[in-house]
Amino acid sequence: MSEPPLDMVIRSGDVVAGDARHRVDVGIRDGRIAVLGTSLRGVREIDARGCLVLPGIVDPHVHFSATPATAGGEPEFADDFWTGSRTALAGGVTTVGQMSFPVADEGIRAAVERDEEAARSRAAVDHYFHAGLISAPPGTADEIAHLAGRGHRSLKIVMLAFDWDHSGLVEAIDTARRFGMITLAHCEDHALVDFATRRVQAQGGGVDRYPETRPPVSERAAVERLLAICELTGAPVYVVHLSASDALDAARRGRHAGLPVMVETRPLYLGSTSAVHAEPDGYKQVGMPPIREREDVEALWRGLANGSIDTVGSDHAPWTLEQKREHIGDLACLRKGVAELETMLPLLWTEGVVAGRITPETLVRVTATNAARIFGLRNKGSISVGADADLVILDPNEHRLVDGSGMESAAGYSVYDGRRLQGWPRWTLSRGDVVYGDGEVIANPGRGRRVQQDELRRTWQAR
Ligand SMILES: [Zn+2]
Repeated sequence: MSEPPLDMVIRSGDVVAGDARHRVDVGIRDGRIAVLGTSLRGVREIDARGCLVLPGIVDPHVHFSATPATAGGEPEFADDFWTGSRTALAGGVTTVGQMSFPVADEGIRAAVERDEEAARSRAAVDHYFHAGLISAPPGTADEIAHLAGRGHRSLKIVMLAFDWDHSGLVEAIDTARRFGMITLAHCEDHALVDFATRRVQAQGGGVDRYPETRPPVSERAAVERLLAICELTGAPVYVVHLSASDALDAARRGRHAGLPVMVETRPLYLGSTSAVHAEPDGYKQVGMPPIREREDVEALWRGLANGSIDTVGSDHAPWTLEQKREHIGDLACLRKGVAELETMLPLLWTEGVVAGRITPETLVRVTATNAARIFGLRNKGSISVGADADLVILDPNEHRLVDGSGMESAAGYSVYDGRRLQGWPRWTLSRGDVVYGDGEVIANPGRGRRVQQDELRRTWQAR
């Protein structure tokens, strides 16, 4: 009996699979990778000569709804699941980890369920959820247990946000551990940031001095505290958007001591230095933590190359320019967050691969394989037989001058506006369907699915 024909063949691209690159055809059937071989024939074919075929990017960190401050009256982010999905697919991103934060008096369970509902009707990109914890009222443990029972595998805390009882934080992280979840942590120390901000304000400092308001020591202190919690409880932890060399050294020491600590960084910290804040539109680039110095940038690239940083997450946190400008006179209240989903891959290609700091194989590890392993994302993050046919076909020689006003994000601008980046997605495939090609997103709202997550215990112990 002969096999049914392949639905699709990606022909003659340089396929980055595992730790190697091969010129092979990728055969797809029923949304899965069915075969890697030569001279394959399919009902539909894409000629990928001259291009790289990579696993679709797994971005563990996006914001497509409320912010931790929405409960305090701040607006929601500029992208929702639909515009965010379009932005993702155009950027070669096929799976996103959504940060689900409570609004008003919602608990964490209600926040995740609200986002699940929105994603069901609006998402075109596959997704999973991190339950954002900004306080730990009585009943939190039950909510964590409930989420775990529904297959959710992660909690997100913002170490800045709690003036709440510290043992409540430790308790929540330990509860997450008991239910097989990993805790993601935004690491900055509130008291140190508060003091540094007031000091710069007293000196009449403007946006150009924004980085001084959130110094590396505040990041390192929070990482060290997280490591202490990790050591005491044995809970696995994941530092989101690490920016500073000192903080990376601290995380590395924890890891050498055998602690289950994972590290993520963000394109913003890999592609720019703090000098951008001194430019006339320096407010555009404001994020938390701030952009650091040249030595930090190089330390982060080395960390990606040597494995001490596991993942790159975009922390896509989009605002329109108007929203960005709203608090421009107040250093403490500058609106933080930037849109980076659509530019993440070309930024990493240009500054990473073309600049000789990382190989394409490392790029694949830190943008897909590692995140899929850490979060137990079934059938995601690699080009192998049986995996979902989530692929990005990247043209390494396509150069574009970035112009955020023409991009998919509702932000309407990019932090890289006017910068020339190379290595753009030509096609993106999600479960075998072409969802982006010829400059167009070809997907409907609601097409995205929630990704099944396997139990995590084994996945981080296997590192
Ligand atoms: Zn974030």
